[in-house]
Amino acid sequence: PLSLTDPVELHRICVCVRKRPLNKKEMAKKEIDVVTIPGNGVLLFHEPKQKVDLTKYLDNQLFHFDYSFDENATNDLVYRFTARPLVRTIFEGGRATCFAYGQTGSGKTHTMGGDFSGKAQNSSKGIYALAAQDVFTLLQQRRYAEMDLCPYVTFFEIYNGKVFDLLNKKAKLRVLEDENQQVQVVGLQEMPVSSVDDVIKMIEKGSACRTSGQTFANANSSRSHAVLQVILRRRKQLYGKFSLVDLAGNERGTDVSSNDRQTMVETAEINRSLLALKECIRSLGQNSEHIPFRMSKLTQVLRDSFIGENSRTCMIAMISPGMSSCDYTLNTLRYADRVK
Ligand code: ADP
Ligand code: MG
Repeated sequence: PLSLTDPVELHRICVCVRKRPLNKKEMAKKEIDVVTIPGNGVLLFHEPKQKVDLTKYLDNQLFHFDYSFDENATNDLVYRFTARPLVRTIFEGGRATCFAYGQTGSGKTHTMGGDFSGKAQNSSKGIYALAAQDVFTLLQQRRYAEMDLCPYVTFFEIYNGKVFDLLNKKAKLRVLEDENQQVQVVGLQEMPVSSVDDVIKMIEKGSACRTSGQTFANANSSRSHAVLQVILRRRKQLYGKFSLVDLAGNERGTDVSSNDRQTMVETAEINRSLLALKECIRSLGQNSEHIPFRMSKLTQVLRDSFIGENSRTCMIAMISPGMSSCDYTLNTLRYADRVK
């Protein structure tokens, strides 16, 4: 039975790391696992662990996070410590946001549950579906049933600084900001949902739209940010909003050995938005007056997430275990370390 007496205190910002297991291909290549998770720390090696001088590494390469999950953690466990505490936030009329950050292939989409290519099994359900389950459980509780809250879902993608509606044939949408700095995505489809199944159907539809189809933006889903929002309205008025964000891969431009202009533009835009995101979350954590949300389309669209009394954020930084990913992993750990 669901009890939202969380396993965790509600922090305003929670930063976690999740390490995925070595996959078959990596094992076939005898890839060495260079990441260890002692408690809630993450220890990264640059060479086979056996050869390491631990005293040297403990100083430089040990990071601490609110929670660190090793390769044995299930989606369900990760969910319970990350996004689940945020479900309560939207029932209190707040803004909750959960980010999956990391290099391409590190497990962002797996964790969020946006991959329906293999028809995800029940046990491997991701955060999207698990959060939806909790939302509908709470909606039925008398306290909330009496409040007359209505749930809706939006699902969109931000690619190259442009917004595309994944629930409406990838229609390109405009973003407007009014004089009160309220940001609106014009024409974004907000679909009413009445069950977890409804939500899952929307996720399937949007995920399929994300990775297949005709437009250039489909070329590589790892170059775009995908945002699923669960919205609660009370008498048509916005009440609570949960944004679940599967971020674009954080590979650096310098790592892309391509002079292709399109790729360079994409990479610059991704770097800009991830930098903006870091700055915005840090400002939220410091209760700063000034939130630099206009630095990128991503942060502009998520403006609500960084402002207001009842805004809470969780970042899950995904890391690959292999030695060949070491530099990316270090980048990811440093980024996550800066955010907290
Ligand atoms: P990303 O979205 O970050 O590019 P994916 O989520 O697509 O990465 O993961 C890449 C591959 O690794 C997928 O085949 C996925 O199923 C697998 N994978 C990722 N994380 C895990 C995990 N924790 N356990 C098992 N397999 C995983
Ligand atoms: Mg992905």
